Amino acid sequence: MVSATDPVTFVRRVTFDLCGGHPALDFVNSLDNRFNSRGCIEGLQSYDDLLRFARQAQLLDSARLAQLERTVRAPAGLRALRAARALREALGATLYALVSGRPPAPNDLQTLERHFHAADRQRELRWQQGASQRHTLTWSWRPDAADAELPVWALAHAARDLLTSPEMERVRTCEAETCRWLFLDTSKSHTRRWCKMKVCGNRMKARRYQSRHSG
Ligand SMILES: [Zn+2]
Repeated sequence: MVSATDPVTFVRRVTFDLCGGHPALDFVNSLDNRFNSRGCIEGLQSYDDLLRFARQAQLLDSARLAQLERTVRAPAGLRALRAARALREALGATLYALVSGRPPAPNDLQTLERHFHAADRQRELRWQQGASQRHTLTWSWRPDAADAELPVWALAHAARDLLTSPEMERVRTCEAETCRWLFLDTSKSHTRRWCKMKVCGNRMKARRYQSRHSG
């Protein structure tokens, strides 16, 4: 996991790679090279990056995102960015622990719990009338939830959904040692091994081929 002393490279990304198959996993993957001794690559450099991620992962609708773009001032954006990264690292540590069969650290669970509670306070129950005249209830963001932290709450909500769902059984880490991105294995046979076959799968196959055919 990342500590304050680890080197972090900042790379401007136009789009985020969402091959994880769940927003919470793609969020953790936004810190690339997480386990590389040469240092990680930070995908969330600014509040704009956080909004871009929320848009791409379809966590918030475009009207809310446009409102945040217009209204959030730099200090509040920076606080939200820091909160997002803290959530991401607690989530990442918990997911990697669970996937490896280890219990998660209590302080990471406390951080997650704090974010989940904060997100819940911004939700409300609404009803609407469907085509069949039946009323249906939806659990959604309060109309006045236009705080800079809205993307963080949306991410916390997605993270809580995943962590407490049966889908957790399908969370895997990419087998390429230099990658180890998280993904949801939705393959029929449940045998997906790579975040992206074309990148990590081919790279590992080439490496095995070289080691078999060398010497
Ligand atoms: Zn990979």
